[in-house]
Amino acid sequence: MKLILLGPPGAGKGTQAERLYERHKLVQLSTGEMLRAERDAGTELGEAADRVMAAGQLVSDEIVIGIIAKRIEAPDCKAGFVLDGFPRTVNQAIALDDVLAKKAAKIDGVIEFVVDEAVLVERISGRFACAKCKAGYHDKFKQPKTAGVCDVCGSTDFTRRKDDNAETVKARLKAYREQTAPILPYYKKRGLLHPVDGMADPDTVTKDIEAALSRIKV
Ligand code: AMP
Repeated sequence: MKLILLGPPGAGKGTQAERLYERHKLVQLSTGEMLRAERDAGTELGEAADRVMAAGQLVSDEIVIGIIAKRIEAPDCKAGFVLDGFPRTVNQAIALDDVLAKKAAKIDGVIEFVVDEAVLVERISGRFACAKCKAGYHDKFKQPKTAGVCDVCGSTDFTRRKDDNAETVKARLKAYREQTAPILPYYKKRGLLHPVDGMADPDTVTKDIEAALSRIKV
């Protein structure tokens, strides 16, 4: 099954993509993660993308389409994947269909995370993660059980994404409204869109996604 998780930053796409991997072995393809990996590796592409990401804007279609087109060729994507953070423009959505059509494949469903934008700034700007195992935490909603110690691996090193500050989050939400939300009708008119309430607790969202999956024909 090939799925897209569509929703603004902080809607819970990453959490649910991880659960889809655990439950269905659908590989999580996060363009944000791929771009951060390029940045951390110090590649030219990563450095160029870093400036755009730090400003909360979208990296060029050409770059992200190139990254995804290459990634979905990998053997681990054969059994299916979940796109998290891609496509983010109508051009990217069209390019994705073209890339898949060449492989006689298609997107089977799009899960839309419906959220109230007003709470997203607080949700995102409190996020941090274990530097070692990447387990996610939040200043207000999910502190480690022992302060300063990761629940999962015991590490005492934590990181925060530098684009998870209030000012950049506002720019990222604007980019979503203006450039990404116009994708919704593109999938809706093909009957691929499955809205879920992204404001519900993560377990309820998981259940709603499972219900949507049972309606998706592959
Ligand atoms: P994310 O981890 O999905 O929140 O993405 C972090 C940042 O990476 C975004 O704010 C963009 O600057 C960039 N990015 C990730 N995916 C895309 C994409 N599909 N198109 C353009 N920019 C992207």
